[in-house]
Amino acid sequence: MFRRPPPTPAPHVRAMRPYQPGKPIAEVERELGIYDIVKLASNENALGPSPAAVEAIRRASDSVNLYPEGSCHDLRSALASHLGVSADALVFGAGSDEIIHLLGLALLEPGDEVIQGDPTFSRYEAAAVLAQAPCVLIGLRDWRHDMEAIRQAVTPRTRMFFIANPNNPTGSYVTRSEMDAFLGSLPDRCIVCMDEAYFEFVDAPDYPDSFRYIGMGANVVVLRTFSKIHGLAGLRIGYAVARPEIVAAIEQVREPFNVNHLAQVAALAALSDAQHVSRSRDAVTSGRAKMTDALNALGLTVWPSQANFVWVDVHRSGRTVFEALLRRGVIVRTGDAFGADTFLRITVGTPEQNDRLIEALKGVLAT
Ligand code: PMP
Repeated sequence: MFRRPPPTPAPHVRAMRPYQPGKPIAEVERELGIYDIVKLASNENALGPSPAAVEAIRRASDSVNLYPEGSCHDLRSALASHLGVSADALVFGAGSDEIIHLLGLALLEPGDEVIQGDPTFSRYEAAAVLAQAPCVLIGLRDWRHDMEAIRQAVTPRTRMFFIANPNNPTGSYVTRSEMDAFLGSLPDRCIVCMDEAYFEFVDAPDYPDSFRYIGMGANVVVLRTFSKIHGLAGLRIGYAVARPEIVAAIEQVREPFNVNHLAQVAALAALSDAQHVSRSRDAVTSGRAKMTDALNALGLTVWPSQANFVWVDVHRSGRTVFEALLRRGVIVRTGDAFGADTFLRITVGTPEQNDRLIEALKGVLAT
C-alpha cells in the first residue's frame, strides 16, 4: 500500500558527472594488500599540518559539544589583518569547494553562461550545472588558459568565469598582463572567480595581484584554501575574498554552521605558523624542480608548474603507468579524467616520497 517507484533526480542533476577523488591509501591497501604506500594524487601537504594547528585542535576538542561560531569571528579578524583586506570582504567555506558551490547558488540564474578552461578543476562545472547555467569549455592552448579565446566566447548571457590560477591539473598560470587585458574587456555583468588554491607555491614574478583588482572595483572573487600550504585538507576550510556586496550574496546561501570549530581554531593557528608555511613552500619549490629534472631525465615531458604538482606526458597510456605504479605502492593521478590519456598529474611530496616515485617509474618504464 505504501509501495511506490523510487523518485528520479531532476534532469540537470542526472547530467552531473561524479567527482573522481584521488585513490585513498586505505583503498589501495585493501585492494592490493600492499602497505607503505606513497600518495602523490591529491595535492596534499606532504609535511603534514602545522604542529601549532594540531595543538589548537587538541585544546579545542573538549568543546565540540557546542555549535561553532558561524561568523568565524576570530579567524576572520586575524585573516583580514594578515591579508590587508576588510573583515567584510571575507567569506568562509567547508573547503573552497563549498564556496564554488555557493557562488553558483548565489549568483547564477538558469540560462546564465559560465566559461572555464578545459581541462580544469571539475567543481566549477558542477556548480554551473546545478544552477542550470550552461558551462562553456574553452580548450587550453599548450596546457595554458587561452585568455583571448575565453574573451571571444563572451555573449550577452555570460555571467561567470572560473579561472584556476595556477590551474589544476596543469600547474600553468595566467600572467598579470593577460589578466589585466581580460578584465578590461568584460561587460559589467560578468563575475570572475580566480581560484588561487595553489598561489602560495607560485614564484613567477608576473603572477597577478588579484586583490588589486578587487580594490579597483572589479567583480573578482578570489578563492583561497587552508588545504594546501597549511596542510588542513581533512578539516575542510577555505575562504573567498571579494567586494562586500558579493560576500553578502554568498552569505545569503551559506549554511549557518558550515565551518566547524576545530577547522576554525586550526586555521587560526596555522595562519600564524610562518615557519611551517615557509618550510612547506620551500619543500614544494625545490621538490618541484628536482622532480621535473628527474622526470625529464626519464624521457618524459613535464610542463612548467607553479603549483605543488606537475603535469607529465608519459608518451604511452597514462592509465597503464598509473596501475603499474599502484602495484609498486605509489598513487598518482591519471590524465584520462581530464581528457589527456598519456598524462599523469603527480603531487610533489617529501624528498623520500619523490625518490620512491622516480625509482618506481624507472621500474615501470623499463618493463
Ligand atoms: N580549487 C582547486 C583548483 C583545487 O585543485 C582544489 C583541490 N583539489 C580546490 C579548489 C578545493 O580545495 P578545498 O575544497 O580543499 O579548499
